[in-house]
Formats: sequence, C-alpha cells, structure tokens
Amino acid sequence: MKKRILIFILSIVVFSCKNEVQTSYDLIIENGNVIDIVSGNISKQSIFINEGRIVKLANSDDESASASEIILDGTDKYILPGFWDNHVHFRGGDSLIQANKDFLKLFIMNGITTVRDAGGDLTSSVMEWKQQIENTELVGPTIFSAGPKIDGKSATWAGSLAVETEDDISVALDSLKALNVDFVKLYDSRISGELYLKTIQEATKRGMITSGHMPFTVTLDETLDSGIGAIEHLYYVLKGCSSEEKQITEAIKNGEYGFWASMEKLIATYQDSTAENTFESLKEHNTYVVPTLHIGNVLSYLDEVNHENDTYLKLMPSGIVKTYEGRIRSSLNSSEEARQNRKELNTFFKSLAKSLSDANVKLLAGSDSGASNSYTYPGISLHQELKAMVDAGISNLKALQNSTYNGAQFLKKDSDYGTIEVGKISDLVILNSNPLEDINNTRDIDFVIKGNDVFNPEIIANEINCMECIVNK
Ligand SMILES: [Zn+2]
Repeated sequence: MKKRILIFILSIVVFSCKNEVQTSYDLIIENGNVIDIVSGNISKQSIFINEGRIVKLANSDDESASASEIILDGTDKYILPGFWDNHVHFRGGDSLIQANKDFLKLFIMNGITTVRDAGGDLTSSVMEWKQQIENTELVGPTIFSAGPKIDGKSATWAGSLAVETEDDISVALDSLKALNVDFVKLYDSRISGELYLKTIQEATKRGMITSGHMPFTVTLDETLDSGIGAIEHLYYVLKGCSSEEKQITEAIKNGEYGFWASMEKLIATYQDSTAENTFESLKEHNTYVVPTLHIGNVLSYLDEVNHENDTYLKLMPSGIVKTYEGRIRSSLNSSEEARQNRKELNTFFKSLAKSLSDANVKLLAGSDSGASNSYTYPGISLHQELKAMVDAGISNLKALQNSTYNGAQFLKKDSDYGTIEVGKISDLVILNSNPLEDINNTRDIDFVIKGNDVFNPEIIANEINCMECIVNK
C-alpha cells in the first residue's frame, strides 16, 4: 500500500478547488481530446470520476463549477480507454512467481489496464493478484484468467488439465468453474480432435467462453460449429482457408506429415473463395481471431536478430531469460529451409491478418508475452503488436479497437469496459500525442488512470531503474 501511495502523490500536481458552489468528484480530467474508439471522432471533453467510474462527461466549454482533490489538465492530450493485452501468460513454475508478479507494474507503466491471461501454471498466485489488484492493494492490470489450459495427457505446458476420456471433460470444466476462471483455454499438444470438439461443446453449453489453438486433426469448420469463442494465432485460420483442408486433415490423421510440414501445403492451396467463406463463417459464429503478429515477427527471425540490447531485456530476471533458450535453440537447430519457410509463413500471416480485418472479422490484439516466449516482453509487446497490425495494413483505429473495445466485447465485459462512457469503469490512458496519426504514439503516455488511481509511467520507470523504458516527455 505504501509504495502505491508514493506513486500516486509524486505523480501529479494535486490541488483543491476552493470554489463554494460545487459538486465534488474523486478525479477530474479537464479539457482533453477524448477519442471515441468506435468512430474515431475526437471531441474536447472533461471526464468526471467517482469511485472508479466515469460519472459525467461534459463539453469542455461547459464551465459548471465542480471540485475534486485531483484535477488533471487534459489540454492537448489524447484520452482513450486503457489498453487491453488480450493474450499474455503468467507461468514458469514456482521459482518464477515473483518475476511474474513484477511484470504487473510493467503493464500499468505501458497503459495496459487489463490483461487476458491465456493459461498457465501459476493459477493460485494469479487469482490472488487479481483479487489484490481489484482491492487496490497491488499495482497491476485487471486480470481475466483462463487458469490452467485444457489439453491431453503429458501436455507441453506444465499445469494443464488432461482430457483423455469423455468423463474428463466435466471434471476439467468443474475444476475451472471452481477456480472461477473467466474463460476456458484449449491447447493442441496432446488432446484428441474428438475430445477437443466435445470439450468446446460442453463448455459452450455451460455458458463458458472458450478460446484455443486447434488440433490439426479437425477442421476449422468443425471447431467453429462446436462454438469456440476465439481462435488463438493464425495457423488454424490459414488451415480453414485452404481448398484442400479436408485432404490435409486426413493426411495428418494418417500421420503422413505433421503440423509444420503442412504449412507449405496450406499456403500453396490458399484459395480466395475458400478464405471468403471462412471469414463469413467466423463472423456468423461471432468468433474472434488473435493474430499475435509481433511474436511471430520475433520468433521467425531468432536466427537473424540479436536481442542482446533490447531495452526490456535487462528488466527480465535470469530465470525468465533462461526460459527463452528453448525457442532459440529450436530455431538455431532447424534447417535453413525450415527457417526460410517460417519467415515466409510469417509474411503470409501479415496479409492474412489484413484480409481478416478488411472482411470485418473481429480481431483481438494480444502479445503472447510471458516466460518461454523469447524476447516478447510484458507491457511493451502490446504496443509492438498494435504496430505490427498497422504495418500489416490495418488502420490505426481498427488496431486500437482490437485492443480494448473488442477485448471487452469478447469477454462480455463491455458493460464495464471498452469505451469512454458514463457508468463505465474509469480505466483510461492519457497520451501526449494522437495515436490515430501515428500508432507509435500509444507509447507516448502522460498518465494511466485505473479506477480512482493515477499512475505516472515516469515514476514507475524510475522505480524499476529503466527510464529508457518509456518515451521521454
Ligand atoms: Zn499463448
């Protein structure tokens, strides 16, 4: 609690308004350029906050007297809903609990007020942090968590729940319900195609939101028909855009080739008309897609790019850096041809992400930051994901919508989050420059508002001894 108050007091010019005829608020942001995340329109407004919610929005020329202990000057600033990173991981075993906990303030420093935790092995800690953050006892983003992933037996990721029989499905879903998770995350390392589809169907029947990878032994249509809420990563969408998906699925079932070997075939058989049907189907099923373009850029070029001087690398404790070794080794050990193919696939995914966006399939901006995901750092990587989306040809406005607006809708939290509206939770980011003009401006953060609390990224950067981690004001 002490540290939090320090961040708070040092961060802003605090003054009391002594005018007599006034309504009182906990926090007022005066005269800012408020960005309507739906239309992209900008209007000069003041935002009035009480008890962590927006209670009034007023045109800036409307000078009714009001008082607040804290008044922030929004003149020439740009105000957006706080960013959402829709795909992060807290994980790496007990020895990395503190390292993961330390990531929380990196999200806040980067204006990320909510993260969607796509599954890991630290569920009891994550749920504890979630509660502490909710109680404002801990500095961090609101966490919506999947808890442990669902997969088969001896799954790739530690802590996953094993579904090996039909009976295991209810056991797994019951235990997730008992953990009070916010959605169900499915992974594809071991689970059979049949049980994967049945798990989605059962979770959907129970009203649970699902997202996942997809075993290549099932088709994308089967997965969409089962009711999956979001497809993580683009491999699975690519599969659904192939004119030969059925034949390739059969070949994989028969063990003729595996996941990576199928990629070349899927690209070669990508068909615009099949893709259009798949995009329509994604929309009809209201299924979201999480492209994770930035981590694709990083992992596809591990053999070429030296990350030694990454600004955020020095913030990563050695235990985290150690987890980066697996993917680095596998990149360096793969053949020249395999590395080339991976790069071509990565390039293909950029155009696929744009096609999805142009077709108005709902996308989610997620970084996939966390242990094991080499050089994809908590906080900053969401900005890199937004930039990767814009580099792929997606508009700045849509990229921004993919973060907060779509994130809130996907998790059905849009009555509280997603836009700047009266009644919604006052999680906001105040930028010094306009992100609709240059997406890099999402990093040019003045203040981060989380409920009633005001955070100055400079204070956090100073505290973690990394002033170069933020854009200099
Ligand atoms: Zn992930």
